Amino acid sequence: MINILDKTFVPFISRSSIESRIAELADQIGKDYAGRNPVFIVVLNGAFLFAGELVKNISLTCEITFIRFSSYSQTESTGNVRQIIGMEESIENRDIIIVEDIVDTGLTMAHLLKQIKDRSPKSVEIATLLHKPEALKTPIDMRYVGFEIDNKFVVGYGLDYDGFGRNLDSLYVLA
Ligand code: 5GP
Repeated sequence: MINILDKTFVPFISRSSIESRIAELADQIGKDYAGRNPVFIVVLNGAFLFAGELVKNISLTCEITFIRFSSYSQTESTGNVRQIIGMEESIENRDIIIVEDIVDTGLTMAHLLKQIKDRSPKSVEIATLLHKPEALKTPIDMRYVGFEIDNKFVVGYGLDYDGFGRNLDSLYVLA
C-alpha cells in the first residue's frame, strides 16, 4: 500500500509482469515491421517508461520522437483537446507507431490520430501500455495493448497522480 498526496493506492501489476508483457509487444512489433524503419512517436509525459522499455527490446532500425500536449485546452465538440508540441520532422510516407501510456475515453488518441493522419504517413498503429475498454467513448483501433484494465484510476510506471508517482516501477490502483 502506498500514499500519494491525499490518496491511497494498492499494488496492481508488478514490474516483472509489465516488463514481460512489454517484451512480448516488442517481439510482435519486431516481427510485424521486419524490413521497415518505423517512427515511434512517444506521448509524454506518461509513456516515458513504457517507451524506454519497449524500444530497448526492439532491434529494428527505427526513429524515436517525442510529443506532448500543451497544458492549456480548447473546447471542441469532442471534448477538451490540446495543442500538440513537437513532431517538427516530416512523417510523410513513414510507418508510425504511437506510444501511449493509457487509452481511457480515447478522445486524446482520436485527436492525435487525426493530426498524424493529416501529415500523410504510410501507416499508423497504436501501442498503449493500458486500455480501459469500459471507458472508451470513440472507436479506436489499437494494435498493441499491454493490459486491458477496469475503469479505475492507476498510477506508477510513468503514470501520475497530480504529478507524483511516475517513478514507481510497477502499477498501483486507487484503493
Ligand atoms: P483519454 O483521452 O483516453 O480519456 O485520456 C488519456 C489520458 O488520460 C492518458 O494519457 C492519461 O494521461 C490520463 N489517464 C486516463 N486514465 C488514467 C489513469 O487511470 N491514471 C492516470 N494516471 N492517468 C490516466
